[in-house]
Amino acid sequence: MEQNIIRKLEKDNWLEISSNFSNPNIKASFSLKSLDQSSMNSRKSFADSIGFVHKDIIIPQQTHSNNVIFCQSSGRVSNCDGVFSDNSGYVCSIQVADCMPVFFAHRSKLVFGLVHAGWRGLVGGIFNKTVSTLLEKKLDLIEFEIIIGPSIQACCFEVREDVLDQFDSRFVTPKSDGHYQVNLQQLAFNELADLGYDKKKIHIMPDCTFCLESQYYSYRRNGKKAGRMIGLIGVK
Ligand SMILES: [Zn+2]
Repeated sequence: MEQNIIRKLEKDNWLEISSNFSNPNIKASFSLKSLDQSSMNSRKSFADSIGFVHKDIIIPQQTHSNNVIFCQSSGRVSNCDGVFSDNSGYVCSIQVADCMPVFFAHRSKLVFGLVHAGWRGLVGGIFNKTVSTLLEKKLDLIEFEIIIGPSIQACCFEVREDVLDQFDSRFVTPKSDGHYQVNLQQLAFNELADLGYDKKKIHIMPDCTFCLESQYYSYRRNGKKAGRMIGLIGVK
């Protein structure tokens, strides 16, 4: 099992993970539960508070799809779960609560993106779509560094037999109660490596959003009323 060391700096109400990217111009951040989300504009105020400009944010309207878009403008993007940009004036964003926030940044070029990968997006091939999106732009996959952020881990992500055949059995562990634990992060890691990204540049944050109740929202723990964490990546 691959497990890399992740550098994270805990700020007032977010994690700063920029230093995991070797491109010094990349800024990547992930909000914690302590970020006030009472306003509809929490994503924008979060962006402003950490040094981005809120009007520059790309905001996908997430639908658990496998749609990934290379964006040529900021603002809302309909029916989309992955956004990339090569415009240093824009900031990619996503929101999650258990699903994997997957940060991408090219090592030397200013190309960056964020993908929302829950199990549906994962089995629906959202990482395949990142590949075609990046190859269309003539970008080399092995140049990308990837961080799989805080998300529900195998300790807490269980499925029943009815959806079991959707998952590669190498990442499934049967439990005594008839349920199955699925390791979505390792599944994602493996798939990314198989697709042509460099294994050595894929990092998994071990934080489980379900276990760490004081730090993270969890859809499985809190249901429909659960808040969301916000991931942002852009240029400093
Ligand atoms: Zn857990």
